[in-house]
Amino acid sequence: MKRVVVVGGGISGLTVAHALMNKPALEVMVLEADSRPGGKIWSERVNGFLCEKGPNGFLDNRPKTLELCSKLKIEPLRANERAKKRYILTNGTLKPIPESPPAFFRSNVLSIAGRLRVLYEPFAPKGPEDETVAEFIKRRLGKEALEMLIDPMVSGIFAGDPYRLSIKSCFPRIKALEHEYGSLIRALIKIRRQRTGGVSVAPKGTLTSFPAGIQTITDALAHVLRDHLRTGIRVDGVERLNRRYHLHTSTGPIEADIVVLACPAHESARILTGFDDPLSKELSAIPYPPIVVVCFGLRREMVEHSLDGFGFLIPHKDKRRILGTLWDSSIFPGRAPEGYVLLRTMAGGSRLPEIAMLDDEGIVKTVFDEIRQVLGLRGEPEMIRLYRWEKAIPQYEMGHQERLRRIEERLRAHPGLYLTGNAYRGIGMNDCIENGIGVAGEILDETGHH
Ligand SMILES: Cc1cc2nc3c(=O)[nH]c(=O)nc-3n(C[C@H](O)[C@H](O)[C@H](O)COP(=O)(O)OP(=O)(O)OC[C@H]3O[C@@H](n4cnc5c(N)ncnc54)[C@H](O)[C@@H]3O)c2cc1C
Repeated sequence: MKRVVVVGGGISGLTVAHALMNKPALEVMVLEADSRPGGKIWSERVNGFLCEKGPNGFLDNRPKTLELCSKLKIEPLRANERAKKRYILTNGTLKPIPESPPAFFRSNVLSIAGRLRVLYEPFAPKGPEDETVAEFIKRRLGKEALEMLIDPMVSGIFAGDPYRLSIKSCFPRIKALEHEYGSLIRALIKIRRQRTGGVSVAPKGTLTSFPAGIQTITDALAHVLRDHLRTGIRVDGVERLNRRYHLHTSTGPIEADIVVLACPAHESARILTGFDDPLSKELSAIPYPPIVVVCFGLRREMVEHSLDGFGFLIPHKDKRRILGTLWDSSIFPGRAPEGYVLLRTMAGGSRLPEIAMLDDEGIVKTVFDEIRQVLGLRGEPEMIRLYRWEKAIPQYEMGHQERLRRIEERLRAHPGLYLTGNAYRGIGMNDCIENGIGVAGEILDETGHH
């Protein structure tokens, strides 16, 4: 019997354990520091509102997540059709993001010169192996497309800075399209010919959650894992003695043959200090800026805007103090009581971390002041919830690929030690699930249990 200990009970760790439980000759245990599993996935009911502290959904275009849902017997809930409409807030007005190429050329989100520059894309030269998201987009689509469309999207996904993030690490598929087709527009047209569907500038797939919130998936995993999951146990260090790993935990020592670190990179770094300092240093160098999430529940009639869409994101050049606001009650049913709406605003991130450092009152005031005029809010909200993530989303900055290679190299010296989670090869829930299943597969291969 080999014992596998998974450190961290977020979606990544729970997925690894789920894929390994019930395999012959393996004993699986998840150690979660917090009193609850789920990590960043956290739904909370507050006076009839369903507030999401972290993610509010995943795109249904990657089969592994849906397969996991069906194994867990949980029914996914697709976003409302009208949530396909997304807005950009610029110069104080909300402008819809065009959803198709013809709509893009009719829309005034970009100036005429900006739109023509996008048309020049097939003639733009190929770039180096890796570069920043900003350099890549500026070369391919122009500065205006970067500032008005891509920069807000990067805020929405990473709360990050396109001038520091690596295109190859953050958007590997887009970089691969350039490599394969020499042009993104050409790639879109060719892919369209291969499929029958239309060309879309929006990401494929529909945002998906569950009627009781996104936490349904981690709750269901925890339920299935039962005694394999132990909460309230923090791992603080690791040693290797007699070909076994000895974990130092807040409740005493635990031995393992195989250890999967599925906690944030800065925590893995702390655990590995003294065991492999160069590896620990690599992990601690992955930045995690803070984010705050503020939920407001208001009476519908207090909001002038129709809230007919997903919400809005903001170009950094507009110098607002928030990243954007999602209209959660327009996206999924059941997020607000009858006659009310639920708005969820994110602030902080790489470029505005100082907002996340304010006290509670300062944050709520800053956020409400930012959205009051934009959405035409009258009076005060009836429900306010503020959530803080001191270390929210890992940033894949330039050099991330080389860092991953050095990490792999170091791991080769430690048989049976694995790293997974959102710090390495994708931050989305879909990525965490795919990578978790991948690590479980490697473990099964190496232990000869496949
Ligand atoms: C505000 C916000 C919005 C987001 N929105 C979306 C979205 O809409 N869609 C999407 O796909 N993704 C979204 N993401 C990203 C997504 O939520 C995360 O990437 C994903 O949930 C990370 O899962 P994980 O298991 O890798 O890490 P985590 O969720 O961070 O889990 C790690 C776990 O390890 C535990 N742990 C830490 N240290 C120790 C230790 N020493 N010992 C034991 N346990 C430990 C922690 O308590 C935690 O439970 C969002 C993230 C944030 C913060």
